[in-house]
Amino acid sequence: MTQFTDLGLAKPLLKALADEGYVNPTPIQAQAIPGVLAGKDILGIAQTGTGKTAAFALPILHRLAENRKPAPRRSARVLVLAPTRELATQIGESFKAYGKHMGVTVAVVFGGVKYGGQMRALAGGVDVLVATPGRLLDHLGEKTMTLEGVETFVLDEADQMLDMGFIVPIRKIVKFLPRQRQNLFFSATMPGEIEKLSGEILNPNPVKVAVTPQATTVERINQRVLFVEQQRKRALLAELFDDGGFKRVIVFTRTKRGADRVARGLEQAGVEAVSIHGDKSQGQRERALAAFKAGEVRALVATDIAARGIDIDAVSHVVQFELPNVPEAYVHRIGRTARAGADGSAVAFCADDERSLLKDIEKVTRQRIPSFDRRNDRHLGAATAAMPDPGGRPERADTRSANANRGGKPKRNRNHGNGGGGGHRHEGAPVRAAGDKPAFKGPNRGGNRGRGGGAGRSGGHGGGGRSSGGSTGVWSNR
Ligand code: AMP
Repeated sequence: MTQFTDLGLAKPLLKALADEGYVNPTPIQAQAIPGVLAGKDILGIAQTGTGKTAAFALPILHRLAENRKPAPRRSARVLVLAPTRELATQIGESFKAYGKHMGVTVAVVFGGVKYGGQMRALAGGVDVLVATPGRLLDHLGEKTMTLEGVETFVLDEADQMLDMGFIVPIRKIVKFLPRQRQNLFFSATMPGEIEKLSGEILNPNPVKVAVTPQATTVERINQRVLFVEQQRKRALLAELFDDGGFKRVIVFTRTKRGADRVARGLEQAGVEAVSIHGDKSQGQRERALAAFKAGEVRALVATDIAARGIDIDAVSHVVQFELPNVPEAYVHRIGRTARAGADGSAVAFCADDERSLLKDIEKVTRQRIPSFDRRNDRHLGAATAAMPDPGGRPERADTRSANANRGGKPKRNRNHGNGGGGGHRHEGAPVRAAGDKPAFKGPNRGGNRGRGGGAGRSGGHGGGGRSSGGSTGVWSNR
């Protein structure tokens, strides 16, 4: 089996990997690292959980180390675009962790927060800039940032970018990039529109790398579908939690309002629950994630956008309160419970009007999911009648939700960016927990986690310190 030491990576990187306890590259890393080191473009089909971030971060850092030069002012040598704040923050943390013995500078910029700190962080230039598209485009429009010095461009989670209506902003951003550059393009799936975009961005003949975690993930997870009436789903969910094995559970709903309602219903049933979605403030999202990760609550009720890409350890079960409109989202959802090779369990509720969604899911995943019929169940009927109303209007099947409409004509979700430059309020919130702890199972566990002002500086090149402004929308280790 290939080891990291076989890949020709610089010593400081090998040291950082040893610090993390990583010995063997994952398949996507073994496939992608040599090509990136050779300066080639990459077209990668892989989703989060495969080690994709290190697959691009390690060789990029190696190339930066080999060719040291000052970062361009108001710009960066490497630009990584990610769809959500969570993912951008995670990627930034990974660069920081892997590059900790190299003294690289990293900044993360996302929307929904003030601009000033972001401008100051970028003023002197950074090696690596990780950004969400809407906010970066705002900076480029205002000329507070430039992309003239970018040598390597990474587009991560391209298919989620499509789902979130970011394709137009991305095309605009690409126009700001120098023509001569290395491009690394990653997507979990390759619908037609994404293939077209990759053709526009990549140089001819990119190295194609693909890992197929979908099948393996699906195989490793113990899945079942429960047929149930829509109005009895709350009682069925509460019943699941009677099983003490449901220790750390992510419950997916289709709508933001639905997430709140389901979380309230669980609380009323005596199950500690928090919800996370795009209408929550950054602080609320951070606190919810931190409470879930710390095991203070058993259930995290989430919409797809809020949950995708987040790396949470030891999720015992994933429950799909509603089936997603797009079959691939089913795979992403259940994948939350089988991180880093662990097994997991997934339960999906299916009301009568969701049967066609289930059929699509079974077609895409090429499997038949064991199903159990809980319709007309007297016990559930009685439990439903005994439950108080959780308040708020009932959720409806909102097709405008997170992952809707993959592959078809992109349907713009009013809540998730409009393809224009600004106002992408729902790009997510950083997963940084209150109290200085990393709020995700990222690789950067040993670093100096000073938490200062948004653009504050602690340390610099060669120093390990950094300032982290969880709620300012920027952090930089300059
Ligand atoms: P990603 O697909 O980039 O989100 O990575 C998924 C998880 O795997 C993260 O927690 C990484 O820190 C971890 N990881 C990445 N590469 C390796 C590796 N070679 N060995 C063990 N864990 C890894």
